[in-house]
Amino acid sequence: MVQIAVVEGDGIGQEVIPVARAVIEAVRPDFSLYDVEVGYGRWKRTGSACDAETMESLRAADAILFGAVTTPPDPEYRSVLLQIRRDLDLYANIRPIRGDGFDLVIVRENTEGLYSGIEWREADRACTLRVITEKGSRRIARCACTLAKQRRHLTIGNKANVLKSDAFFLEICTREAEEAGVPCKAHYIDALCLDILMHPDRYDVIVTTNMFGDILSDAAAYLVGGLGLLPSANIGDKHAFFEPVHGSAPDIAGKNVANPIAAIKSAAMMLRHFGDTEHAAAVEEAVRLTVAKGTRTVDLGGATGTREFGEAVLGELGALI
Ligand code: ATP
Ligand code: MG
Repeated sequence: MVQIAVVEGDGIGQEVIPVARAVIEAVRPDFSLYDVEVGYGRWKRTGSACDAETMESLRAADAILFGAVTTPPDPEYRSVLLQIRRDLDLYANIRPIRGDGFDLVIVRENTEGLYSGIEWREADRACTLRVITEKGSRRIARCACTLAKQRRHLTIGNKANVLKSDAFFLEICTREAEEAGVPCKAHYIDALCLDILMHPDRYDVIVTTNMFGDILSDAAAYLVGGLGLLPSANIGDKHAFFEPVHGSAPDIAGKNVANPIAAIKSAAMMLRHFGDTEHAAAVEEAVRLTVAKGTRTVDLGGATGTREFGEAVLGELGALI
């Protein structure tokens, strides 16, 4: 049986994940879902945000549905998300962004580049090492090519004209695309940040390095009207982790106003990951119909609560499956 670890986490994670969970339960009663507590709330209560035993229960899952965790300014606190990403080797961050007339996916390398963690300070300068490896580039390129093969084409976001490390990344990605028979183009990342906003229809799958992908995907959130709508996946060779792009949003937590669409769409990505395209499409269609009928949360100009929005989606879904 497929085992799903469900982590609500902190803040609005505790409101949007129950909605996404109900959606999965509605379409896949055969999946087994179990709760795992991780995050700042747990840290305050027990002194540990995620211990070895918790990590084992995440590792044992076929997939993880994750809400959000608050990272407090407390210097004693270590980011659980980084720990999970590293321990489960979730090297590909995948963010689909779909809207009127465009449908693109950003594939961001998640383990190296400027976030290599190799950095130091000296008296009069500070350095961060940008590490691009052949193994790291090849596996992210393969992941992007697999996606592009099922879709249309690949764009490699880079700054190879300035950075030797990116010339290396570009070389490896181009070779992988050629071997996979995927049509591919290179695009400088700065120009791409503008062009993706002006002509999103020209793009399909975009692969890029860690920091560039971080910036590009947040900029692209502008295309769909905000953080509450965007799902994401973090994929490794052995593990898969699905989470809304937004964080724990403490400013609106506990008020039943958070938009659960990003969480529901993350659940749909999970269904697709298990090959269940039919239910994934039904879930996305149920969200589309709900919004089209005017049922909207506050961020989209409506007045529907998180829970009530979830019930409306389940209603639409019931008629579709
Ligand atoms: P964190 O430190 O956990 O990332 P944050 O304060 O940065 O929390 P985010 O979740 O990253 O908050 O989002 C930034 C802002 O966008 C929030 O303060 C909130 O107002 C809004 N927002 C984010 N997610 C949603 C959502 N699902 N529905 C409605 N508004 C949202
Ligand atoms: Mg944030």
